Amino acid sequence: MKVKFWGVRGSIATPVKGHTFRDKLKRILSYATPSDVIDEPSVDRFIDSLPFSLSHTYGGNTTCLEIRTKNNDLVIVDAGTGIRELGVKLLSEGYLEGNGSASILFTHTHWDHIQGLPFFIPFFIEGNEFHIHAISDEIEQRLRYQHNERHFPVTFDGMDATKKFYQHQEGESWPLYNLQITSKGMKHPGGSYSYRLEEDGKVLIFGSDAEFRSDDMDDVESYLEYFQGADVLIFDTQYTFEEQLQKIDWGHSSASIATDIAMRAGVKKLILFHHDPSYSDEKLDEVFLRALRYREMMDVDNTSELEIKIAYEGLELEI
Ligand SMILES: [Zn+2]
Ligand SMILES: [Zn+2]
Repeated sequence: MKVKFWGVRGSIATPVKGHTFRDKLKRILSYATPSDVIDEPSVDRFIDSLPFSLSHTYGGNTTCLEIRTKNNDLVIVDAGTGIRELGVKLLSEGYLEGNGSASILFTHTHWDHIQGLPFFIPFFIEGNEFHIHAISDEIEQRLRYQHNERHFPVTFDGMDATKKFYQHQEGESWPLYNLQITSKGMKHPGGSYSYRLEEDGKVLIFGSDAEFRSDDMDDVESYLEYFQGADVLIFDTQYTFEEQLQKIDWGHSSASIATDIAMRAGVKKLILFHHDPSYSDEKLDEVFLRALRYREMMDVDNTSELEIKIAYEGLELEI
């Protein structure tokens, strides 16, 4: 299984501003020495030596993941604004001619998880087939309502691809291509569902949007069982620990709670995800470093194999 992140931002799309770009540029130039800019290889070496927040951006698109099975079947998780660019890429893979087929798993229908769908070009092309899966029994009704002409000029039926809906029950185990999928409800206003995807014994869990708090850890056992031994756990870490204390019931978690849970569940790789729209790239560097320090601090007997990464647009993982 392979996964590529097309949108990692929580709540609302967050484009990079002109003054942010200028500030980055000033800082980059202040670090450069004449020997860093002699030729292209020296420039590349210099850029590679910079912190991630200066050499890249974590990205501003909201939730969308491209998951590929070993047979290259496509499963998309959520249709945040990141799905627009995924759609553009798919046009060169048969979807422009109407020969595409994929499945979409919806975790829930908050704006940041559906807002890219009206701009997903493969949906407009006759012949493409999309299999839309959700736990909610209202997914078709909600997507149709999203495309009501008061909200968008093209109705759902006006998008010419074939769209088929599948409703599943929480906890049900169902096959999709070469995958076996289960789901679990997460604590989140309006409800949200996590998905666990397994292929040949390898497990990927997508666990956003979800609120876990340190004073809520008593009833965490069923989640620890569900996350147990996952190869990759993508988890809602929208807030810092301090900010989460002020945002009780907002439906999101912090990197420290995510680390606690991942360590307790024997997860191999934790991906920090659903970044707050107010967090700059520099702040996300800090969130990541603090998560690494917290992991070291909590691993007192040095037995945990947990690896932590932070999601950014374009990140690809092989599981
Ligand atoms: Zn969200
Ligand atoms: Zn949400």
